[in-house]
Parts: sequence; structure tokens; C-alpha cells
Amino acid sequence: MHIVVIGAGVGGIAVALGLQQRGLDVSVYEQASAVTAVGAGVIIAPNSHRLLTDEWGIDAVPGGVQPPTLHLRRWQDGTTISEQQLGAVAVQRFGAPYVAMHRADLIDALAAGLEPGTVSLRKRLTGLVQDDKGVTVSFEDGRVERADLVIAADGTRSASAAALGESTVARPSGFAAYRGFAPKQLIAEIGESHNTWLGPNQHFVHYPISGGELLNFVAIVPTTRQETEAWSSPGEVSDVRRAFTGWDPRVRRILDATEEVTLWGLYDRPVRDRLDLGRVVLLGDAAHPVLPFFAQGASLALEDAAVLSALVVDAPALGLDRVLSAYSRVRVPRIRKVQDASFRNATMFHLPDGPEQQQRDAFLGDPASPSPLRANAWLFGHDVRDDAAAARADL
Ligand code: FAD
Repeated sequence: MHIVVIGAGVGGIAVALGLQQRGLDVSVYEQASAVTAVGAGVIIAPNSHRLLTDEWGIDAVPGGVQPPTLHLRRWQDGTTISEQQLGAVAVQRFGAPYVAMHRADLIDALAAGLEPGTVSLRKRLTGLVQDDKGVTVSFEDGRVERADLVIAADGTRSASAAALGESTVARPSGFAAYRGFAPKQLIAEIGESHNTWLGPNQHFVHYPISGGELLNFVAIVPTTRQETEAWSSPGEVSDVRRAFTGWDPRVRRILDATEEVTLWGLYDRPVRDRLDLGRVVLLGDAAHPVLPFFAQGASLALEDAAVLSALVVDAPALGLDRVLSAYSRVRVPRIRKVQDASFRNATMFHLPDGPEQQQRDAFLGDPASPSPLRANAWLFGHDVRDDAAAARADL
């Protein structure tokens, strides 16, 4: 069985590695001229970090930082709303660490395990045609390839899904995100925690990455424009500074110390009931773009990759259709749950100051309340390889 993966992002590289480690023949095609040139901080939570270690053999991604706490703060003075212990406590509680890392370091660590020549760069998919025996994949440069299975890991506006006539229209959230880095000196001043500052209609997140060399931040603001979904579109530093006027001096310090920012629109799309379209199967953002308010975009892509590679190995014996439908059965309910939680955080995080906000703060700050940000055993504690094993047993 020859498998073609479209897209060498987090999900594409991870699934290729999982398939290769199981002895399958896989090629990855990526439109960019380099695999890791762009991106910033991503959170790899315990639910996906355990996969990095146990599935792909990566104990620690170089430059990964374990924040000691996840701190929710009030926007104007930093008052603590809630504080969750991470670091060693996360490992003890969930069996794996909560790690902030540069997206490029994560992809590099995964790609290092691939056999040389697996990834072809500057290969932009332009067409997919399926027949009874396989899929014909065409690229912009004229190359044509046959595959038994195509894994579409080509991001939010999946060209693979579009080539099969699927809608890739994403739902604008009404929010946009500025991303940037502040110099490492600010980490000593402000601390190593993962901090989320909640304010009316907007919020601000920061944590160190790259071994503490960079303070990564994301500033979420309301927007009525259709901002681009491209990750590397430049934004105006003066705009984001203006948006956070009057916020705690620590937030202001980070923005004042920043020279450039990128700006990207935040979108999601309800996930389909089936992730397979015949011999083409969707994975990661191509299947389910998710708002970043639960920091699970990369983690979900890794979960998809672990489950799909565990199931596809049985395709020659059990039939492609059966293993792909098992993949959908296992993944769709969990993806929906995370998408919903991310969506709900958009409302909860952005309440205007007043009685509802006070109620929220009391709820989030009460260690006994079932806050989705604290009582997250269902998310962090879950091992999706158990789902894959259960699905295989049923086939
Ligand atoms: P993606 O990471 O989006 O990867 C999709 C890949 O497919 C890309 O490499 C893209 O170039 C390739 N591709 C797209 N169309 C084609 C085509 N027609 N032919 C061939 N290849 C194609 N998330 C964060 O939380 N923080 C970040 O800083 C961050 N930076 C990012 C930077 C970039 C450049 C990208 C593409 C994504 C970034 N993300 C970031 C998103 C995050 O990586 C994803 O939400 C998550 O990891 C899911 O990954 P994925 O593999 O499904 O998709």
C-alpha cells in the first residue's frame, strides 16, 4: 500500500512517522520551500505529549518549556482569578507534561525520525481524482503520483478537500490574534508561568518557549474584518498596543518591548461526521480547524495522527473503508467536545466587567468547581491509543 500525505505541518509529519514506524510506504508533499520556517509557540498538553513520547519516541522536544503554573488573571491589575499547578504536578496527575514549544522545534523533532527523502518540498497539490483502485494526485509543477490512500493534512483551507468538491468555508469567530515575541529579559521580570489575562472582549496569553530564550505572546482582539488565515501576515504593533491601553503594566511591558507582530483571523469549522472521502482521509486542521482558546490545535492533530496510523496498518487485512470509518467513529466525538469547549471559552474569557464576570471569576477560582480549565482529566488524562485499540477490537 502506497500512502501519500499532503502537508508537512505537525499532523502530516506525525502521521507519516507513525506509518513509517509500522513499516508502511509513505511520501509527504509540502507546498512550502522549507518545512519549519514559520510559526511561533504551540502548547503540547499532556494528552498529546504522551503520544510524542510513547508513539514517536520523542521524550523531550529541544527548547520545550514546562510552565510551572497556568495562571488566569484580571486584565487591569493582574489579580489572580485561578491558578493551576503544572510542571511536575501535571506529570503526576496526567502522566505526561504540559509543554510550551516553538512549532518549528516540534516539527523538526518529528521530522528527524523520518527516513531521508520522505518529504518533497515545493509540491503544491492542485488535483485529486479517485477511482476503484486508487487516487491520482497532481501537483502544480506537473508531477503526478498514484496512491492507494491520501491523507489530507493540508491545513484549514484544505486544497485536497476542495479538489474533491468539499466545502472548506470556515466560520469566522469575530476575533483576530496578534502574535509576537518579547525579549527573554522580560521572562525574569514577569515569570515563567503560562499567563492568560482576561478582559472585556479580549484576552492576552504569554509563556516562554525556545528554552526560555523567547517570551511568546498572543493577543486576542475582536474584529469585524475578515482577517487572513495565513500565519505569517504582518500586523501593526501600534494597533495591538492601542488595543491594550489601560491593561496591567506587565502586559504593556511585553507589547512595548515587541518590534513586530503577525495578525491572523480566527476561524473554525464544524467537523463532518465522516473524516474520509473515499480513499482520501482528512487529518488535523484540514478536518477540524479549532479556535485556539483551549490551546488544542496541535494536540488534536497529533491525536488524529496517532489514531489513524494505528488503524491504517490493518487496512490490507480488514479493508480501507472499515479502518477509515473506525477512525471517524473514534475521533469525531472527541474533536467536537474540544471544539465546543474552545468555542465556549470565547464567551467566558471575554465577559465585560460586572456581575456575570464576578460570577465567572468566583467559579474559576473555586478549587471545587468543575471549571473546564482545571477539571480537565477528560482532556489531559485521556490516552487516544485506547480509543484506537477499542476500535480495532471491534473491526
Ligand atoms: P498545519 O500546521 O496548518 O499544516 C498544513 C501544511 O499543509 C502546511 O505546511 C501547509 O504549507 C501545507 N499545505 C497547505 N496546502 C497545501 C497544498 N495545496 N499542497 C501541499 N501542501 C499544502 N499554531 C499555533 O498554535 N501557533 C503557531 O505559532 C502556529 N504557527 C503556524 C504557522 C504555519 C505556517 C502554519 C501552517 C500553521 C501554524 N499553526 C500555529 C497552526 C498549527 O500548526 C495547527 O493548528 C495545528 O498544528 C494543526 O496542524 P496541521 O498539521 O493540521 O496543519
